[in-house]
Amino acid sequence: MPELPEVESVRRQLAPHLTGRRVDAVWWDPHPHARFHAVDRLAGRHLTAVRRRGKFLLLPLDPEGSGAALELVLHLGMTGSLRIDTDPARPLATTLSHVRARLELDDGAVLLFRDPRRFGRLSVVEAGRYDAVVPTLARLGPEPLSDAFTPQHLARGLATSRASVKARLLDQRLVAGVGNIYADEALWRARIHPASRRVGATRAAALHTALVAVLSAAVEREGTTFRDYQMVNGQSGRYAQHLDAYGQHGRPCRRCATTLRRMVVAQRTTSYCPRCQRI
Ligand SMILES: [Zn+2]
Repeated sequence: MPELPEVESVRRQLAPHLTGRRVDAVWWDPHPHARFHAVDRLAGRHLTAVRRRGKFLLLPLDPEGSGAALELVLHLGMTGSLRIDTDPARPLATTLSHVRARLELDDGAVLLFRDPRRFGRLSVVEAGRYDAVVPTLARLGPEPLSDAFTPQHLARGLATSRASVKARLLDQRLVAGVGNIYADEALWRARIHPASRRVGATRAAALHTALVAVLSAAVEREGTTFRDYQMVNGQSGRYAQHLDAYGQHGRPCRRCATTLRRMVVAQRTTSYCPRCQRI
């Protein structure tokens, strides 16, 4: 699943194509499993910005008369990706499979939402009112690369829960945007066992430092490409070669050469070093 660095890369690539554009027409897949909500309200509206919160993209729409301000909320789910088609002579849509939604813009470009497994989401909601339609977004913790995310916040959050540290990182309420890849990476870097249920202030501070470092480095390299994740231009993120832990089980630890192990934590496959990362 795309995490903060991947979604941030998508945001940066989309912004110049979408900001200020009017949506002339919208098509979406009527499949019963599709997670689309009020998407028809996009037609005729301008997209005024492309923002990100956790793993969500937020696109505010220009106000329609005196009506409430609206926002398009977009989540890529497990396998979603976005492409911009700027060449009407050779439409991408005819060569791409699993296109679930299409936004035609006033400059002739088309935004395509591909999603083989249909876990992605497109919802138009009243700006900031997420509770009813996208409750996860309503309860998101602070952005990890913002000043609101402090070592104290992380330490307090970990101290008040009996869940494993990895489950807490994946939960989104303690900190937004972290998924399986960057949880494994940060825990390895901070030398914390993923299943650990007691993380004191010193280790929480190390984990804070590790999260910020790992996420910043991954944003800089436009994320990690794996399975279906692609950037808007169809290219790959470059963080994969920097992975120390995620998906590296069976390989030697880059710090101590012990073979990395795999276990299931919080229902997710987890790689860790049995020597560096003790409970
Ligand atoms: Zn090690």
